[in-house]
Amino acid sequence: MEYGRPLRGVVLEDGSVGSHAAIVARALAIPLVIHAERIASEALNGDAILVDGDQGIVHLRPEETVATAFRDKIAMQAKAQERYAGLRELPATTRCNKTISLSMNAGLMADLPSLEGSGADGVGLFRTELQFLVRNRMPKRDELARIYARVMDAAKGRPVAFRTLDIGSDKVLPYMKPQDEPNPAMGWRAIRVGLDKPGVLRMQAQALIRAANGRALTVMFPFITEHAEFVAAREHVLAQLDREVRLGWPAPATLRIGAMLETPSLAFAPRAFFELADFVSIGGNDLKQFFFAADRENERVRKRYDVLNASFLQFIERIVERCADTGTPLSFCGEDAGRPVEAACLAAVGLRMLSMRPASIGPVKSLLRRVDLGALYDAIEGARAAGAETVRPAVMACLSALPE
Ligand code: PEP
Ligand code: MG
Repeated sequence: MEYGRPLRGVVLEDGSVGSHAAIVARALAIPLVIHAERIASEALNGDAILVDGDQGIVHLRPEETVATAFRDKIAMQAKAQERYAGLRELPATTRCNKTISLSMNAGLMADLPSLEGSGADGVGLFRTELQFLVRNRMPKRDELARIYARVMDAAKGRPVAFRTLDIGSDKVLPYMKPQDEPNPAMGWRAIRVGLDKPGVLRMQAQALIRAANGRALTVMFPFITEHAEFVAAREHVLAQLDREVRLGWPAPATLRIGAMLETPSLAFAPRAFFELADFVSIGGNDLKQFFFAADRENERVRKRYDVLNASFLQFIERIVERCADTGTPLSFCGEDAGRPVEAACLAAVGLRMLSMRPASIGPVKSLLRRVDLGALYDAIEGARAAGAETVRPAVMACLSALPE
């Protein structure tokens, strides 16, 4: 991904859509198709290739008719984009008059122009590890502080949830000793590394406080599995706040500290956790992986389960209730928030904040503005009561009846 924007498409024989490389490609809006078998041996230098990232299809040396069909499709998409641009300044208010806040996920400087262009309410997930992954050495505190300050400048007062370093599993830093673990997704990753070796966590907290320079600051921790981990990680940040203030840096106007809910265990944490957390953000990519015990990196099992599975939606609803009990703000920032049908269902079960890649904001808003969440919830409930495994057919029937 180091090629950046000039790269027009990526076709891989291997890979997984849940992998970090795929997430970066999505952030850069670069079409990426995986599992294109034999492509590396079939394609010759100079061959034309059409990459349809939406459908996951690749045409090598396409016929003119295929190329024409593609051009038509691109023209239609451009029209849809115009329609979405017309919605940019409008809220995502449903027909039943519920407003859903739509934020964007980011992590690269290349994402920043999208803050204006997409009409996002803020950055619901800033993946700080991307700044670590694109370098071949550990970034320094001042370098990070400058980057974070630029992100806050670009946000112009809109909230940015900076997620502390989430490494391990598929995200391996080239300059850190690789861990030879039998199952890295369930291994020494994210906040587990942060708590065991808190040097980087502390350095990030200092950089964030300096970047905020008296502005509001939002920090969240990845992969919190139990209350005690949240307490300990929060203590680290608060200790750094004391230190920075003693050194003469201004304290942030407000400091909100939240947790990502990415393992089922956290949904069952004691009430004290929900009281202490300033907010909770569901990391649906990981939560789904652990709920279904289906590796997000493994194409063979990944597709078997989805967010519209009746049990999973029930579980999400349970999390909504737990947060409602304590008045803890809740958002959802996994990839599913960026899929219009899935986003509408998440709103129907009670989510009021969704964070997604910038290009999804238009399509998600467009659907949300037409939907009645009560009717959609009834469809979901109906399917569940009838014992359906997935609520998708019921949901699609409900949505297909919507007026344009
Ligand atoms: C998630 O797990 O849903 C998430 C947003 O974090 P990441 O995809 O970076 O693991
Ligand atoms: Mg995650």
